[in-house]
Amino acid sequence: MSSHPFPPPAADAVIRLRQQVSDLHQELVRYRLVVWTAGNVSARVPGHDLFVIKPSGVDYDRLTPDAMIVCDLEGRVVEGDLSPSSDTAAHAYVYRHLPEVGGVVHTHSTYACAWAARGEPVPCVLTAMADEFGAEIPVGPFALIGDDSIGRGIVETLAGHRSPAVLMKSHGVFTIGKDARAAVKAAVMCEDVARTVHISRQLGDPLPLTRADIDRLYDRYQNVYGQQAAADPADSAEPTDSAEPADPVEPADPVEPADPVEPTDSADPAAPADRGALA
Ligand SMILES: [Zn+2]
Repeated sequence: MSSHPFPPPAADAVIRLRQQVSDLHQELVRYRLVVWTAGNVSARVPGHDLFVIKPSGVDYDRLTPDAMIVCDLEGRVVEGDLSPSSDTAAHAYVYRHLPEVGGVVHTHSTYACAWAARGEPVPCVLTAMADEFGAEIPVGPFALIGDDSIGRGIVETLAGHRSPAVLMKSHGVFTIGKDARAAVKAAVMCEDVARTVHISRQLGDPLPLTRADIDRLYDRYQNVYGQQAAADPADSAEPTDSAEPADPVEPADPVEPADPVEPTDSADPAAPADRGALA
């Protein structure tokens, strides 16, 4: 691998993110979101127009920090000996157009793809889904690899939407997050709810959640749930809405209980605090 062309502290951040991105690819395997070499994770280098992404076509059990590729926001390789993921252009487009996004994940996970193949959004019918997604998981346009079409479809669908996941029609899942770990979490949760709602549909029509309940659940999960800094641990398990004692928010997050995603999101899906202005 070539020596680091970056001045500190970028060099330190790149070293850290090479390790993190390499490790997070093993989470895709662990949660069975990928087969063969499909699927990829990237992370923005904070404060620099760079991101770290997986190399193309390398087996997951051979991925190492040194094998990761550093690209600029046009998707050009800045550091690394291998070719970057074939989805690099889509990741780069997202980083260019959504400055608050620190991580991007792409998978062809089975149940989510089953919805994508029908071009059908996953309806928000579970409390855990309201927590994480705050809405249905939307469908983005059909787009072929090779130019900015996929990236543009992701950004146009997710900008102004609460969901950190989009089902690209007839293709697969792209997720975003404040960092790469949050984007991986969204990919794991996306597949989980796609599977559960699919099974529910085999038995009949899932019951809809009201918009008001979705709003309450989303707001609580994004802003209250988890380990708040300097908070009394005893308080974090208590429902904040005393009018709804029969439906406490379950600890629905087996992945990352200590790190709620994007707590700065506003409760208004029409004007998310950190996405609407960035499209
Ligand atoms: Zn794909």
